[in-house]
Amino acid sequence: MRAVLALDIGGTKVDIGLVDSTGSVLRRRRIATTRTDNGTELWDDIASAGAEILSEAESGPVACGIGCGGPMSPNGEVVSPLNIPSWRDFPLRQVAAATFDMPVWVDNDAKALALAEGWRGAAAGSDNFLAMVVSTGVGGGLVVDGRLLDGALSNAGHIGHVNVVPDGRECVCGAFGCLEAEASGPAIVAMTGTEPQYANDSMRSAAGHSSAAPSPPTR
Ligand SMILES: [Zn+2]
Repeated sequence: MRAVLALDIGGTKVDIGLVDSTGSVLRRRRIATTRTDNGTELWDDIASAGAEILSEAESGPVACGIGCGGPMSPNGEVVSPLNIPSWRDFPLRQVAAATFDMPVWVDNDAKALALAEGWRGAAAGSDNFLAMVVSTGVGGGLVVDGRLLDGALSNAGHIGHVNVVPDGRECVCGAFGCLEAEASGPAIVAMTGTEPQYANDSMRSAAGHSSAAPSPPTR
């Protein structure tokens, strides 16, 4: 069974995995995005973890898929994740293709989440939904009539920077009162002094979601 190398690049951590065609994660590494504030060193960390996984793979992955915090240019040619200040206009797709020597696809992490939730997750069987991630940032992806919405600049559904509190807390994007500034993990910690609790696999299982695999939304 051919697998893909999958990267989830966030403001706090990067997950690198080998994923098979059913969506099962065969191998996984995690590194802290915050270990370095040097953008080149961050990519070197990611490349090393990816190389470890590739060395353990029974057969070489056929492609690499990357979800990364936004904003970014179409297809992730250039990314500037708000929560990774050392990456500004970072040529992610090109760098990853050169590092891993395979075809690479990049998209906004929350749009990738939307595709995954429609394929294997909470939105399976639904043709119209908004998927959201609440983590270091707040992101979103929209599926309409079974298709992922890209938007003119490939950032459709980036709901974290919708204003929800006029003159509210300052956001990493420079505006005030964005949903991300009011409801992200760090914002919750700052306002309550309590660490946020993230949903996990056991919670999903407890909620009774089926492991059946319907057709994923299409791009
Ligand atoms: Zn913002």
